[in-house]
Amino acid sequence: MTTLDLRENVQLAPFTSWRVGGPARYFAEPRSIDEVKALLQWARSENVPFFVIGRGSNLLISDEGFAGLVIRLADKFGAVSLENGRLTAQAGCSTMTAVKAAAQAGWGGVEFLSTIPGTLGGTVVMNAGAHQSSMADILESATSLMPDGSVITEGVADLGYRYRHSNLRERGAVVLEAVIRLEPRSPEAVQQEILMLSKWRRERQPQALSAGSVFTNPSMASAGKLIEDAGLKGETLGRAQVSTVHANFIVNLGGAQAAEINALITRVQERIHARHGLWLHPEVRGVGLEVGHAEARHDPTQPSA
Ligand SMILES: Cc1cc2nc3c(=O)[nH]c(=O)nc-3n(C[C@H](O)[C@H](O)[C@H](O)COP(=O)(O)OP(=O)(O)OC[C@H]3O[C@@H](n4cnc5c(N)ncnc54)[C@H](O)[C@@H]3O)c2cc1C
Repeated sequence: MTTLDLRENVQLAPFTSWRVGGPARYFAEPRSIDEVKALLQWARSENVPFFVIGRGSNLLISDEGFAGLVIRLADKFGAVSLENGRLTAQAGCSTMTAVKAAAQAGWGGVEFLSTIPGTLGGTVVMNAGAHQSSMADILESATSLMPDGSVITEGVADLGYRYRHSNLRERGAVVLEAVIRLEPRSPEAVQQEILMLSKWRRERQPQALSAGSVFTNPSMASAGKLIEDAGLKGETLGRAQVSTVHANFIVNLGGAQAAEINALITRVQERIHARHGLWLHPEVRGVGLEVGHAEARHDPTQPSA
């Protein structure tokens, strides 16, 4: 029988890129599929809600924390291997680790991942992307633990991919493993591309604590441009601020509360709605809270989260 390595009342802020959020009632960092299974079985038998996180780079966690079990699939669940131009990694493998492991063996084509902080699991679920590529373009298959306890491997066509969306969350899937297709590429070429992309980011995006883009882009415009044109760059609420560098980022100036960030998200949505009659849709996910304005969550013109 698998023993449960459960901790209690663990502060979640250090596990997020915004560095905000209260404690998890229960917290675990499993190392194997059997441990993940055992944790979910325990949560179900104890009637404890659970939430899976990766590196927390797309999360707004409530100041009150999460009154259930947080399962962190990151560093301790990050084994990676390569064979025949395929990279197979546990969900907790970081995007940068995957790119570097591929490069060392003479493979690439996935360099855009290096600029997206997070785990492969989070990136598969979010269909994260940058520089005209997204996870849907490079993923071959994902293996998930389903709510009925089965472990299934699905091809990319089964995952309902569209812009920053997969069907994995609505199906309650816990992603365990991803297989990514690679292209032959020299380590030097990969390294050069990583440096170029990271320079591009540094020049255009804030280096302060953030969760990347707060809103998805509406079909007709970039969210950042709409926010900037509304004069909201630099808008500040408590210790949260609409970045002066990139208006679709909200930065933690140091000591921000989740409630402040969430109120600023709502304020931005209201201003854009008043100007353009559309609700910006949050890309960031809430834990223990609902992100942004209630009407935006029910806006039929926006893609569902
Ligand atoms: C500076 C910065 C820049 C960014 N730039 C980009 C960008 O260019 N493009 C982009 O798309 N995103 C960007 N992001 C957002 C973020 O990096 C991505 O969404 C990333 O893929 C999230 O991965 P994560 O492991 O941190 O997931 P988390 O933030 O921990 O979780 C995100 C969601 O995935 C779920 N999840 C995580 N792991 C699993 C799993 N194993 N099984 C099931 N569900 C899981 C969580 O429940 C949650 O719903 C940026 C963030 C930052 C801080």
